[in-house]
Amino acid sequence: MSKIAQNPFEIAQAQLDKAAKLLNLDEGTHQALREPLRELVVSLPVRMDDGKVKVFKGFRVQYNDARGACKGGIRFHPEETIDTVRALSAWMTWKTAVVDVPLGGGKGGIICNPKEMSQGELERLSRAYIRQVGRILGEKMDSPAPDVYTNAQIMAWMVDEYYWMNGENQFGMITGKPIALGGSLGRHDATARGGVYCVREAAKKLGLDNKSATYAIQGFGNAGQYAAVLHQEILGGGKLVAVSDSRGGIYNAAGLDPQAIVDHKLKTGAVSGFPGAKAITNDELLVLDVDLLYPAALEQVITGANANDIKAKVVCELANGPTTPEADEILLKNGVFVIPDFLANAGGVTVSYFEMVQNHYNYHWDIESVYERLDKKMTEAFTGVYAMLEERKADSIDMRTAAYLVAVSRVAEAMKLRGWV
Ligand code: GLU
Repeated sequence: MSKIAQNPFEIAQAQLDKAAKLLNLDEGTHQALREPLRELVVSLPVRMDDGKVKVFKGFRVQYNDARGACKGGIRFHPEETIDTVRALSAWMTWKTAVVDVPLGGGKGGIICNPKEMSQGELERLSRAYIRQVGRILGEKMDSPAPDVYTNAQIMAWMVDEYYWMNGENQFGMITGKPIALGGSLGRHDATARGGVYCVREAAKKLGLDNKSATYAIQGFGNAGQYAAVLHQEILGGGKLVAVSDSRGGIYNAAGLDPQAIVDHKLKTGAVSGFPGAKAITNDELLVLDVDLLYPAALEQVITGANANDIKAKVVCELANGPTTPEADEILLKNGVFVIPDFLANAGGVTVSYFEMVQNHYNYHWDIESVYERLDKKMTEAFTGVYAMLEERKADSIDMRTAAYLVAVSRVAEAMKLRGWV
């Protein structure tokens, strides 16, 4: 499932090129936005439990900080590459711009398989990463967060290592921290929550009845699990018919209980084997006859090979980069409404921004304030992108391109005002 066929950074650049053309962006600005501003590649020697030293490779890419400090997660993954990190850091730049928070875009990663590592090994690896990359991090420079296979505990080790390096608690240098260490209430489910808010707004525009709509979720990590539950909680209904994770999927036309699957996954480590459900593959899940599809795992799952078979009316991309440009064209032609990744999953970074604000003031907001502000930000972002879609009707663009037009204009404006381009 995680094997990707196309270079994700080339995809990110092609998406930008399309937007630059529609915006008539001047050549200098366009070229400046095609490449990351800074990259750091590091070697991380870590003492493993068997006493031997293993050397891991890590990355931090600071794509653009014209609008504010770089922001974006750190991914631990065996197939991590510099080009994946570059693509993700570009998408972070558009993400912070589309929700209009005063931050730029960055991303980090380590090539490793956390599923095969002990807690002690993970802690030593996380601390080694900060000892190397910490020199370019800070709340005013670049602030990481969790991503695939990283979590609040890893953020806690990282903020602690930064404290030992600098002699001060600078909590805003990383987000997605545990609540007891400067984390924000509502950060844990913010990505999924923001996506469901987008679905709510899309349904209003498309005249979709959320109460009777069926939905399927591909990927059952943080975003997928919370989306399963929050979809029904926020929309007041909907029938979950299928979910999958890296080991396979489950299907039941009569509907599945979201919380029961989450409990099953926590207990057994997988969704498969859930009582009363039929086994299906990830590929089968993507082309199910459902109203709504949430790709919530990794890149390039909707491609030229299966896009024509997608039957969902709405695709809400909780994952980053799940749809290739070739698939985008097919989905547009077939009338599938795609809520693009850097809009759909921007709830995570939005609450990360709230976390930084709270850290700055040394103050905690209650959960209602977080939800209310997140809802406002996501609704405004969705509405702004949809307005762009309507404005550009004559160009027959999709929501991804509309989101690019909004985001790229904002970043370009900041670069111009600074005198960079
Ligand atoms: N890794 C998340 C994303 O892709 C969160 C980034 C953040 O909170 O800084 O949006």
